[in-house]
Amino acid sequence: MGTAHTRQMSTKAANNLAKVTFVLGGPGCGKGTQCQLLVERDQFVHLSAGDLLREEQATDSEDSKLINDHIKEGKIVPVEITCRLLLKAMQKIGMNKRFLIDGFPRNEDNLFGWQKEMEDFANVDQVIFFELSEEDMLKRIMHRAKTSGRADDNVEAAQKRFTTFNTETMKVIDHFDEKNIVHKIDATGDIEEVYTDLKEGLIL
Ligand code: UDP
Ligand code: MG
Repeated sequence: MGTAHTRQMSTKAANNLAKVTFVLGGPGCGKGTQCQLLVERDQFVHLSAGDLLREEQATDSEDSKLINDHIKEGKIVPVEITCRLLLKAMQKIGMNKRFLIDGFPRNEDNLFGWQKEMEDFANVDQVIFFELSEEDMLKRIMHRAKTSGRADDNVEAAQKRFTTFNTETMKVIDHFDEKNIVHKIDATGDIEEVYTDLKEGLIL
């Protein structure tokens, strides 16, 4: 709410912000695969919160152990760390791009942290949500496990990540759903089928 003047100001301010699409869905639903296609075919820039955390963990920084412990347990890393890595990556690439931020925000703490730390830098105008059954997600995770080397690509960690997704991330999706900015996609098909559905109605 506000006067015409303040509304005009905020539109003007929004024009200078990075344009962000959040990409959500359970573990192994295909977020990374579809993001890669949107980068190759549609000029998005893709940032995976999980990949940024794994890279940070590998540098032996002061946060390494904490990040590692969280990932192994399928728990969510404190938002200050994730936002710091996201902002650093965005600034390095240039804020005038269209970003896909994949696997974030995963809980309400992430959401509030983003609102607090990133509101001056970025505007979220859509949220992609890939829907897939746990049975299918587990199949894809176990297939990925053959080559990923990820500490959380196993049945035990996957179960923990499903629980985290159901109890924490779904609330974030509901929050954006109330704002009518969720683009819900059935992720059961093959890669090209899902991509075709995804492109329909997507803000480019
Ligand atoms: N993670 C986190 N915060 C994030 C993103 C990822 O704490 O914003 C951690 C969390 O422990 C999660 C793990 O990193 O289970 C793997 O996330 P990723 O997005 O890589 O998994 P995916 O959903 O792609 O299978
Ligand atoms: Mg991923």
